[in-house]
Amino acid sequence: MLKKRFAQHLLIGSGILQKIVEFAEIKPEEVVVEIGPGTGNLTKYLLKTNLKKLYLIEIDPEMIEYLKKIIRDERVVFINADATKFDFFSLKENNLKLIGNLPYNVASLIIENTVIHKDLIPYAFYMVQKEVAERLINEKSWLSIFVKTFYEVEYLMSIPARFFIPPPKVVSAFIKLTRKNLIDIYDLKEYKNFLTKIFAQKRKMLKHKINEIYLKEVGISGEKRVEELELKDFLSLYLSFQKLK
Ligand code: SAH
Repeated sequence: MLKKRFAQHLLIGSGILQKIVEFAEIKPEEVVVEIGPGTGNLTKYLLKTNLKKLYLIEIDPEMIEYLKKIIRDERVVFINADATKFDFFSLKENNLKLIGNLPYNVASLIIENTVIHKDLIPYAFYMVQKEVAERLINEKSWLSIFVKTFYEVEYLMSIPARFFIPPPKVVSAFIKLTRKNLIDIYDLKEYKNFLTKIFAQKRKMLKHKINEIYLKEVGISGEKRVEELELKDFLSLYLSFQKLK
């Protein structure tokens, strides 16, 4: 029985599953984490590669029980947990490749949790709602800036609803996150607070949200509104805030 509350929409079609795994370019000795394996459709294709280890993080205990019955592979570790809150450091691995046909109701939270663990995660490949992918890539929001500060986001392909059981009401998109080189931000909680604060009440001028000292330091006019800022402006503004606070 598929559960609506866990947004269970299983991917079907060997062509698509194969393509997803190809995009992920899994190399021997790589440690992979699949988020929301469900009944294991994608898992089976991942196990055809020569990955070293595969962690499966699934919230539904019944799915975990089922997976344990059908998958007999020494490389697999089953974890019954919530991926929006999961502590990836607890795995004691250095480099993780994340992949998943995400539960769409919590996809943004899973993406946020990925960024929080960025030091461990050079790449992530996610199936999300097409609209979520487009907003992440083209729109300015605290989350899109939070993600794009640390990752390049690429739109790999669209997937129509008929490739899922049951078909979702929306079109899906497969995206790739590639970590950027060293960024001098260490306190992600503070960075998130900073971004949510300047994105609150978008129409308000910046000078009414943050101290003008920080704006002056980086030469950004306080009369501007948040949507007029470029990615690099958020970064320099935050760094000046960090330095002068
Ligand atoms: N990957 C499978 C199933 C995708 S559906 C396939 O492609 O066929 C999304 C899956 O994520 C479901 O199995 C659902 O139980 C699981 N899930 C939902 N919320 C979750 C959460 N917070 N953490 C981990 N898994 C979750």
